[in-house]
Amino acid sequence: MDTHVGFIGLGNMGTPMTRRLVEAGYEVWGYDVRPESVENLRKTGGHGAASIGEIAERAPVILLCLPDSSVVESVIEGEGGLLSMAKAGQLIFDMSSSYPPSTVRLGELLKAKGVDFLDAPVSGGVRGAVAGTLTVMVGGDVRLLEKWEGLLRVFGPNIFHIGALGTGHTLKALNNLLSASSLVAASEALILATRLGLDPDRVIEVLNQSTGRSDATVTKFPKFILPRTFDAGFPVGLLRKDVSIALRLAKEEKIPMYSGKIVEQFLTYATNTGAADWDHTALIRILEDWTGEKVQGRASRPG
Ligand code: NAD
Repeated sequence: MDTHVGFIGLGNMGTPMTRRLVEAGYEVWGYDVRPESVENLRKTGGHGAASIGEIAERAPVILLCLPDSSVVESVIEGEGGLLSMAKAGQLIFDMSSSYPPSTVRLGELLKAKGVDFLDAPVSGGVRGAVAGTLTVMVGGDVRLLEKWEGLLRVFGPNIFHIGALGTGHTLKALNNLLSASSLVAASEALILATRLGLDPDRVIEVLNQSTGRSDATVTKFPKFILPRTFDAGFPVGLLRKDVSIALRLAKEEKIPMYSGKIVEQFLTYATNTGAADWDHTALIRILEDWTGEKVQGRASRPG
């Protein structure tokens, strides 16, 4: 089997994902518009590519991990992009969290050239990318997934086929709508609990044995919010993008999303007032400013 893999987008996720591929024995060819990211890949045993064309030259399978659909579109349809450089028989996985109708359109364009396209977004954050515990949600031809499942397993044990092309991206947007909603709801609850004199560490401990638990209470509060490190590695701007994809799909289908809309508005406020690059676990700081109440865990309290 050809072990050459191309990877475009060596950011917070792409860097640990390519590292895992190198460690698993793949010959990884990476490209990013930031030369320092390509250099980092070289230092960890991968190969740096100078262009998208060089990636298409080297590898039968190409993975994309890019910020959003507009960037995926430019990497595929732009000058020197994959639509002109990829060859019939090659396969592209879009592991970014993208807008499903764009994914379907790009798939049709690539198909006309004999190039296969699958969506394979991931959940589990930077920690999951480092540890190899990501969940992968795949849309598109299941036979291609079966052929390449071993490659995706480098990123995590939970590989799910969802349905036709674009369904992986749809489910990813819905996942992040829920993830954002529970983060905002838990943040409000913890602020009120603090105001009422409850110990936040104890509140999280008990919630995690009760029906109010969510990924926010199980992971985000204990690891990033109570210690106030706010370093999960996923910025507010990307979370807002994902929630907006879910809301856009709902609007197109005329499905009401009352609570989702409020969460989207909150994230839009955050991104418009300078928090787009904050880690998403720091969103609670906006609520803290509004209320004057700081949620501080035992480990981060002075003294
Ligand atoms: P990131 O911004 O850290 O990385 C994206 C990389 O793409 C950057 O290195 C950037 O320089 C590069 N890039 C931008 N334009 C490019 C172009 N035209 N050609 C080549 N490279 C280009 O983002 P990330 O956190 O790694 O996320 C990547 C994708 O994965 C996003 O769609 C995000 O929503 C999704 N995601 C992120 C996380 C997370 O926790 N960070 C978790 C799950 C999914």
